[in-house]
Amino acid sequence: RPKKSLGQHFLTNKSVAQRIAALAHNSPCKNLLEVGPGMGILTNFLISDSFYLKAIELDRESVQYLRANFRELTVIEGDFLKFDFNTLFEGEEYGIIGNYPYNISTQIVFKIIEHQHLIPWMGGMFQREVALRIGAKPGGKDYGILSVLTQLFYRVTYEFTVEPGNFNPVPKVRSGVITLQRLETPLCPEGLFPRVREIVKAAFNQRRKTLRNALKMLNYSMELGENPIFERRAEQLSPEDFVKLTKALSIANQKT
Ligand code: SAM
Repeated sequence: RPKKSLGQHFLTNKSVAQRIAALAHNSPCKNLLEVGPGMGILTNFLISDSFYLKAIELDRESVQYLRANFRELTVIEGDFLKFDFNTLFEGEEYGIIGNYPYNISTQIVFKIIEHQHLIPWMGGMFQREVALRIGAKPGGKDYGILSVLTQLFYRVTYEFTVEPGNFNPVPKVRSGVITLQRLETPLCPEGLFPRVREIVKAAFNQRRKTLRNALKMLNYSMELGENPIFERRAEQLSPEDFVKLTKALSIANQKT
Protein backbone atom coordinates (compact mmCIF):
# COMPACT_ATOMS: atom_id res chain seq x y z
CA ARG A 1 0.00 0.00 0.00
CA PRO A 2 2.24 2.81 -1.22
CA LYS A 3 1.83 6.19 0.54
CA LYS A 4 1.38 9.15 -1.74
CA SER A 5 2.40 11.72 0.87
CA LEU A 6 5.85 10.10 1.07
CA GLY A 7 6.33 10.09 -2.70
CA GLN A 8 6.17 6.32 -2.72
CA HIS A 9 6.32 4.95 -6.24
CA PHE A 10 7.93 1.57 -5.85
CA LEU A 11 10.05 0.31 -8.68
CA THR A 12 8.76 -3.06 -9.88
CA ASN A 13 11.27 -3.84 -12.64
CA LYS A 14 14.30 -5.65 -11.22
CA SER A 15 16.48 -5.13 -14.26
CA VAL A 16 16.01 -1.35 -13.98
CA ALA A 17 16.94 -1.58 -10.28
CA GLN A 18 20.03 -3.57 -11.22
CA ARG A 19 21.08 -0.97 -13.80
CA ILE A 20 20.74 1.83 -11.24
CA ALA A 21 22.64 -0.13 -8.56
CA ALA A 22 25.45 -0.90 -11.03
CA LEU A 23 26.11 2.84 -11.42
CA ALA A 24 27.35 2.96 -7.82
CA HIS A 25 30.55 1.23 -8.98
CA ASN A 26 31.57 4.61 -10.39
CA SER A 27 31.57 6.05 -6.89
CA PRO A 28 35.13 6.53 -5.60
CA CYS A 29 34.21 5.44 -2.06
CA LYS A 30 32.96 2.21 -0.50
CA ASN A 31 30.64 4.03 1.91
CA LEU A 32 27.20 4.29 0.37
CA LEU A 33 23.97 5.77 1.69
CA GLU A 34 20.68 4.74 0.12
CA VAL A 35 17.90 7.30 0.46
CA GLY A 36 14.34 5.93 0.73
CA PRO A 37 14.90 2.19 0.14
CA GLY A 38 11.18 1.42 0.53
CA MET A 39 10.76 -2.32 0.05
CA GLY A 40 14.40 -2.72 -0.87
CA ILE A 41 14.39 -3.45 -4.61
CA LEU A 42 17.59 -1.40 -5.08
CA THR A 43 18.99 -2.46 -1.70
CA ASN A 44 18.94 -6.09 -2.88
CA PHE A 45 21.51 -5.35 -5.54
CA LEU A 46 23.60 -2.97 -3.42
CA ILE A 47 23.90 -5.21 -0.39
CA SER A 48 25.37 -8.14 -2.25
CA ASP A 49 28.09 -5.85 -3.53
CA SER A 50 31.20 -4.74 -1.74
CA PHE A 51 29.74 -1.52 -0.32
CA TYR A 52 29.54 -0.45 3.26
CA LEU A 53 25.85 0.37 3.00
CA LYS A 54 23.58 2.45 5.23
CA ALA A 55 19.98 3.37 4.46
CA ILE A 56 17.70 6.17 5.60
CA GLU A 57 13.94 5.73 5.31
CA LEU A 58 11.13 7.88 6.69
CA ASP A 59 8.32 5.35 6.48
CA ARG A 60 8.09 3.22 9.62
CA GLU A 61 6.45 0.26 7.87
CA SER A 62 9.23 0.15 5.29
CA VAL A 63 11.83 0.42 8.06
CA GLN A 64 10.34 -2.60 9.83
CA TYR A 65 10.27 -4.56 6.58
CA LEU A 66 13.88 -3.66 5.80
CA ARG A 67 15.13 -4.54 9.29
CA ALA A 68 13.43 -7.92 9.09
CA ASN A 69 14.69 -8.72 5.60
CA PHE A 70 18.16 -7.17 5.53
CA ARG A 71 19.61 -8.11 8.90
CA GLU A 72 23.12 -6.91 8.14
CA LEU A 73 21.94 -3.48 6.91
CA THR A 74 22.04 -0.34 9.08
CA VAL A 75 18.61 1.22 8.60
CA ILE A 76 18.13 4.69 10.04
CA GLU A 77 14.52 5.71 10.52
CA GLY A 78 14.26 9.40 9.72
CA ASP A 79 13.99 12.27 7.28
CA PHE A 80 16.97 12.63 4.95
CA LEU A 81 16.37 16.39 4.78
CA LYS A 82 16.64 16.81 8.55
CA PHE A 83 19.51 14.45 9.09
CA ASP A 84 22.82 15.79 10.36
CA PHE A 85 25.41 14.43 7.95
CA ASN A 86 28.27 14.84 10.41
CA THR A 87 26.56 12.38 12.76
CA LEU A 88 25.38 10.09 10.00
CA PHE A 89 28.71 9.92 8.18
CA GLU A 90 30.98 10.06 11.25
CA GLY A 91 33.37 12.36 9.41
CA GLU A 92 33.77 10.05 6.41
CA GLU A 93 32.83 10.58 2.77
CA TYR A 94 29.76 8.81 1.39
CA GLY A 95 28.32 8.17 -2.03
CA ILE A 96 24.54 8.64 -2.17
CA ILE A 97 22.10 6.57 -4.18
CA GLY A 98 18.34 6.25 -4.40
CA ASN A 99 15.12 6.18 -6.25
CA TYR A 100 14.35 9.50 -4.67
CA PRO A 101 10.94 10.63 -3.39
CA TYR A 102 9.87 13.05 -6.14
CA ASN A 103 7.98 15.43 -3.87
CA ILE A 104 11.27 16.56 -2.26
CA SER A 105 13.74 15.96 -5.07
CA THR A 106 15.05 19.52 -5.45
CA GLN A 107 15.52 19.80 -1.67
CA ILE A 108 17.51 16.56 -1.74
CA VAL A 109 19.81 17.95 -4.43
CA PHE A 110 20.27 21.24 -2.55
CA LYS A 111 21.17 19.33 0.62
CA ILE A 112 23.76 17.31 -1.30
CA ILE A 113 25.28 20.50 -2.76
CA GLU A 114 25.52 22.04 0.73
CA HIS A 115 27.48 18.97 1.88
CA GLN A 116 29.53 18.38 -1.27
CA HIS A 117 32.74 18.20 0.79
CA LEU A 118 31.39 14.89 2.20
CA ILE A 119 29.77 13.56 -0.99
CA PRO A 120 32.07 12.70 -3.91
CA TRP A 121 29.37 10.91 -5.90
CA MET A 122 25.60 10.73 -6.21
CA GLY A 123 23.40 8.63 -8.43
CA GLY A 124 19.80 7.70 -8.86
CA MET A 125 16.39 8.46 -10.20
CA PHE A 126 14.33 11.63 -10.29
CA GLN A 127 11.33 12.80 -12.21
CA ARG A 128 12.77 13.13 -15.73
CA GLU A 129 12.11 16.86 -15.88
CA VAL A 130 14.11 17.43 -12.67
CA ALA A 131 16.92 15.15 -13.90
CA LEU A 132 17.15 17.24 -17.08
CA ARG A 133 17.15 20.50 -15.12
CA ILE A 134 20.05 19.35 -12.95
CA GLY A 135 22.25 18.70 -15.98
CA ALA A 136 20.98 21.52 -18.24
CA LYS A 137 23.42 23.75 -20.11
CA PRO A 138 23.08 27.54 -20.52
CA GLY A 139 20.55 28.84 -23.00
CA GLY A 140 17.62 26.48 -22.62
CA LYS A 141 14.44 26.65 -20.58
CA ASP A 142 15.63 23.84 -18.27
CA TYR A 143 18.70 25.83 -17.23
CA GLY A 144 18.21 27.42 -13.82
CA ILE A 145 19.21 27.61 -10.16
CA LEU A 146 19.39 23.83 -9.77
CA SER A 147 21.63 23.44 -12.85
CA VAL A 148 24.09 26.20 -11.89
CA LEU A 149 24.46 25.31 -8.21
CA THR A 150 24.93 21.58 -8.95
CA GLN A 151 27.42 22.16 -11.75
CA LEU A 152 29.59 24.42 -9.56
CA PHE A 153 30.67 21.21 -7.81
CA TYR A 154 29.67 18.20 -9.92
CA ARG A 155 29.86 16.83 -13.43
CA VAL A 156 26.35 15.67 -14.31
CA THR A 157 25.63 12.70 -16.59
CA TYR A 158 22.14 11.84 -17.79
CA GLU A 159 22.21 8.03 -17.81
CA PHE A 160 18.81 6.76 -19.02
CA THR A 161 15.05 7.28 -18.98
CA VAL A 162 12.60 4.99 -17.14
CA GLU A 163 8.99 4.72 -18.32
CA PRO A 164 6.04 5.03 -15.86
CA GLY A 165 5.02 1.37 -16.35
CA ASN A 166 7.98 0.24 -14.23
CA PHE A 167 6.47 1.55 -10.98
CA ASN A 168 3.66 0.84 -8.57
CA PRO A 169 1.64 3.01 -8.49
CA VAL A 170 2.26 4.18 -12.07
CA PRO A 171 3.41 7.84 -11.95
CA LYS A 172 2.08 10.45 -14.38
CA VAL A 173 5.54 11.37 -15.63
CA ARG A 174 8.67 9.69 -16.93
CA SER A 175 11.73 9.29 -14.74
CA GLY A 176 15.39 9.98 -15.45
CA VAL A 177 18.49 8.42 -13.92
CA ILE A 178 21.52 10.65 -13.45
CA THR A 179 24.92 10.54 -11.80
CA LEU A 180 26.94 13.35 -10.25
CA GLN A 181 30.71 13.08 -10.04
CA ARG A 182 32.37 15.70 -7.86
CA LEU A 183 34.84 17.91 -9.74
CA GLU A 184 38.46 17.66 -8.65
CA THR A 185 38.57 21.43 -8.49
CA PRO A 186 35.22 23.01 -7.75
CA LEU A 187 34.30 25.97 -9.95
CA CYS A 188 33.33 27.84 -6.81
CA PRO A 189 35.70 28.41 -3.87
CA GLU A 190 33.83 27.12 -0.81
CA GLY A 191 33.83 30.43 1.06
CA LEU A 192 32.21 32.20 -1.88
CA PHE A 193 29.31 29.78 -2.20
CA PRO A 194 26.73 31.67 -0.06
CA ARG A 195 27.22 34.78 -2.22
CA VAL A 196 27.15 32.90 -5.50
CA ARG A 197 23.94 31.18 -4.40
CA GLU A 198 22.34 34.50 -3.48
CA ILE A 199 23.24 36.01 -6.85
CA VAL A 200 22.17 32.95 -8.86
CA LYS A 201 18.80 32.92 -7.08
CA ALA A 202 18.21 36.63 -7.56
CA ALA A 203 19.22 36.41 -11.23
CA PHE A 204 16.93 33.48 -12.06
CA ASN A 205 14.01 34.69 -9.98
CA GLN A 206 13.75 37.48 -12.55
CA ARG A 207 15.13 35.57 -15.48
CA ARG A 208 13.57 37.79 -18.15
CA LYS A 209 15.40 40.87 -16.90
CA THR A 210 18.99 41.84 -17.54
CA LEU A 211 21.32 41.09 -14.64
CA ARG A 212 21.62 44.84 -14.00
CA ASN A 213 17.92 44.97 -13.18
CA ALA A 214 17.55 41.52 -11.63
CA LEU A 215 20.34 42.16 -9.12
CA LYS A 216 19.16 45.63 -8.04
CA MET A 217 17.45 44.17 -5.01
CA LEU A 218 20.74 42.90 -3.61
CA ASN A 219 22.98 45.15 -1.59
CA TYR A 220 25.81 45.11 -4.06
CA SER A 221 27.28 48.20 -5.53
CA MET A 222 26.37 48.53 -9.18
CA GLU A 223 29.28 50.92 -9.74
CA LEU A 224 30.77 48.40 -12.14
CA GLY A 225 28.51 50.12 -14.63
CA GLU A 226 30.27 49.46 -17.90
CA ASN A 227 30.78 45.71 -17.51
CA PRO A 228 28.85 44.19 -20.43
CA ILE A 229 27.98 41.11 -18.38
CA PHE A 230 25.22 43.17 -16.72
CA GLU A 231 23.37 43.49 -20.00
CA ARG A 232 22.98 39.71 -20.24
CA ARG A 233 20.27 37.54 -18.71
CA ALA A 234 20.74 34.77 -16.16
CA GLU A 235 20.23 31.93 -18.62
CA GLN A 236 23.09 33.18 -20.80
CA LEU A 237 25.68 32.80 -18.02
CA SER A 238 27.60 29.58 -17.42
CA PRO A 239 28.27 28.44 -13.82
CA GLU A 240 31.85 29.82 -14.24
CA ASP A 241 30.41 33.18 -15.34
CA PHE A 242 28.35 33.33 -12.15
CA VAL A 243 31.48 32.81 -10.06
CA LYS A 244 33.31 35.55 -12.00
CA LEU A 245 30.35 37.87 -11.61
CA THR A 246 30.19 37.24 -7.86
CA LYS A 247 33.91 37.93 -7.48
CA ALA A 248 33.62 41.16 -9.46
CA LEU A 249 30.62 42.31 -7.42
CA SER A 250 32.32 41.46 -4.13
CA ILE A 251 35.43 43.41 -5.07
CA ALA A 252 33.38 46.41 -6.19
CA ASN A 253 31.45 46.26 -2.96
CA GLN A 254 34.60 46.30 -0.84
CA LYS A 255 35.77 49.46 -2.59
CA THR A 256 32.72 51.49 -1.68
N1 SAM B 1 13.69 2.68 -3.33
C1 SAM B 1 12.30 2.20 -3.42
C2 SAM B 1 12.03 1.69 -4.82
O1 SAM B 1 12.83 1.97 -5.72
O2 SAM B 1 11.03 1.02 -5.02
C3 SAM B 1 11.30 3.29 -3.03
C4 SAM B 1 11.34 4.55 -3.88
S1 SAM B 1 10.06 5.71 -3.53
C5 SAM B 1 10.10 6.68 -5.02
C6 SAM B 1 10.75 6.85 -2.36
C7 SAM B 1 11.03 6.33 -0.97
O3 SAM B 1 11.54 7.38 -0.15
C8 SAM B 1 9.80 5.79 -0.22
O4 SAM B 1 10.11 4.54 0.33
C9 SAM B 1 9.53 6.83 0.88
O5 SAM B 1 8.96 6.27 2.04
C10 SAM B 1 10.92 7.36 1.14
N2 SAM B 1 10.96 8.74 1.65
C11 SAM B 1 10.09 9.75 1.41
N3 SAM B 1 10.49 10.89 1.99
C12 SAM B 1 11.66 10.60 2.63
C13 SAM B 1 12.57 11.37 3.43
N4 SAM B 1 12.34 12.66 3.67
N5 SAM B 1 13.66 10.76 3.94
C14 SAM B 1 13.90 9.44 3.70
N6 SAM B 1 13.08 8.67 2.95
C15 SAM B 1 11.97 9.23 2.42
